[in-house]
Amino acid sequence: MTNCPICNGNIEYTTKPIVYNYRNHNLTINQSGHYCSQCNESFLSPKDIKATKKEIIDLQRSIDHLLTTNELKKIRKKINLTQEDAATLFGGGIRAFHKYETAEATQSKPLDILLRLIDSNKISLDDVRRVAV
Ligand SMILES: [Zn+2]
Repeated sequence: MTNCPICNGNIEYTTKPIVYNYRNHNLTINQSGHYCSQCNESFLSPKDIKATKKEIIDLQRSIDHLLTTNELKKIRKKINLTQEDAATLFGGGIRAFHKYETAEATQSKPLDILLRLIDSNKISLDDVRRVAV
């Protein structure tokens, strides 16, 4: 793509701050993509969109008071569970934790609360295992 299909202006690959509105919060992310230097239209490839997906989901989770991808991963590692172990114990399908940690899916509120309780030592993993069987 060399010229803008809308105004025939010059197109260049660059990174721009983009503001998203989510539940009355403005989220600013740096979005790479092709932009028209005249009309400012953006042309984002699936790769460009994928590159910022995790960042956007994490910002949304922060607003929703849910663990971010890294926070969730940190807790899982702290309690010494593989993604598969965690999915077996907490449910959601074998790839559930992989999805939560790559922003492919977002964990449910009850699971989020449970993980926070385990993380703050309010309940132990053994407590969970005893009632999960
Ligand atoms: Zn244009």
